[in-house]
Amino acid sequence: MSRYDYDLFVIGAGSGGVRASRVSAAHGARVAVAEEYRVGGTCVIRGCVPKKLLVYGAHFAEDLNDAAMFGWDVPTKRFDWPILRDHVQAEVKRLEGLYNETLKSNKVETFLERATITGPNEVRLASGSTLSAGKILIATGARPFLPEIPGIEHAITSNEVFHLKKMPKRIVIVGGGYIANEFAGVFHQFGAHVTLVNRSDTILRGYDESMRDRLLQISIAKGIDFKFISSIEAIARAEHGGLQLTMAGCDDIVVDEVLYAVGRKPNIEGLGLESLGITIGERGEIKVDSAARTNVPSVFAIGDVTDRIQLTPVAIREGQAFADTQFGDKPPFEVDYDCVPNAVFSHPPIAGVGMTEGEARNRLGSIKVFTSDFRAMKNVMAGRNERSLYKMVVEEASDRIVGIHMIGPDAPEILQAAAIAVKARLTKADFDATVALHPTMAEELVLMR
Ligand code: NDP
Repeated sequence: MSRYDYDLFVIGAGSGGVRASRVSAAHGARVAVAEEYRVGGTCVIRGCVPKKLLVYGAHFAEDLNDAAMFGWDVPTKRFDWPILRDHVQAEVKRLEGLYNETLKSNKVETFLERATITGPNEVRLASGSTLSAGKILIATGARPFLPEIPGIEHAITSNEVFHLKKMPKRIVIVGGGYIANEFAGVFHQFGAHVTLVNRSDTILRGYDESMRDRLLQISIAKGIDFKFISSIEAIARAEHGGLQLTMAGCDDIVVDEVLYAVGRKPNIEGLGLESLGITIGERGEIKVDSAARTNVPSVFAIGDVTDRIQLTPVAIREGQAFADTQFGDKPPFEVDYDCVPNAVFSHPPIAGVGMTEGEARNRLGSIKVFTSDFRAMKNVMAGRNERSLYKMVVEEASDRIVGIHMIGPDAPEILQAAAIAVKARLTKADFDATVALHPTMAEELVLMR
């Protein structure tokens, strides 16, 4: 019989924490998890899932317009934000219920309160009890970063954006990353005037340059405003309603909402990490080794709090690896961070895997680049002048495909399959040998010459 109350105590019931909890429990460990907000974490409650539902909702704006060329008469079009907002929240609640059910059916004890680490094998719950565990796993995720400027309390983040009382007519979105570009598309489709403000002169730094340029070009053509090398110095209530933004780098702006999306910070505050001497990195992240272990041998961390790749499937994989390695009867496995596919659910979406053209040139020297720049059949008929762009980056010496990047309708859906080929180190010749599936957009992947 163990001398601890639990074999594993997990702090944070997000994607990573829930996976680690339930798999460890399935391996026979006695597991408890503490969650101070809602089971499901950022992805399910206020991230990927509700965001994707809004992206679907937003896309109807274009689809309903395009329908006319396909013979459909849509006499009235009116968007009702509260209906979509409430349906999205109902779906989030349903998923939260499923996550709770999963924990329960795996016999994971759930404490809906804050937990603080008080020793290498001890946690204290906000309600006062102290519990012991053989291992502690920190999976507390990250939260939106907000700069300290006057009036910042008037701004919202991706935490609040799903609950807006009404759709703003004018919105400024600060940042040029994933969240900023995804919500720029969403708000624009819902009829808001969107201004995207970024401190640098680019969007989506780190993405393939051709994809970024194409998204920028399409977004500008749609009517989204971009203010580069600009920032907000102060936010105040405007005289006739709305918010007055004092800007640096461009003229002042009056809007109804300001959404900040300038990166996310690991949630480490109040966890008791200092007293245990757990090593924290420069970005506030918990430092771990390849087995997710901190410098305190009984304490582990996974997911966004470790700030490696801030993506849900990565956190889930880290949770699975932790559980299998610590409590399973399989040989230990480490997460492979190479060729992790990613997507931006902008309008249109971008997706990519492997090296960008720039990275490949720097790292491999001699490369071949194949592109397909085309207008999707549906867009042609709808009279929508929006071109897709696919790019394949190939190592010259080996003919191996080292990167695929795409922007266009359904790009993330197509890229997931293409990512298998890149991960499996297939060559351009393998793609050339594959017969096209016609008529699709994806066939461009095997037709690039
Ligand atoms: P990102 O890291 O994607 O982008 C941050 C943006 O904010 C950059 O444009 C950056 O500018 C700018 N920025 C950074 N720091 C500051 C600062 N101090 N002041 C002003 N501007 C600043 O962050 P997001 O918030 O958009 O997303 C956070 C993370 O969430 C992402 O990294 C991603 O991992 C995850 N996510 C993933 C999604 C997906 O998979 N589809 C969707 C949403 C989020 P610069 O141009 O100079 O770099």
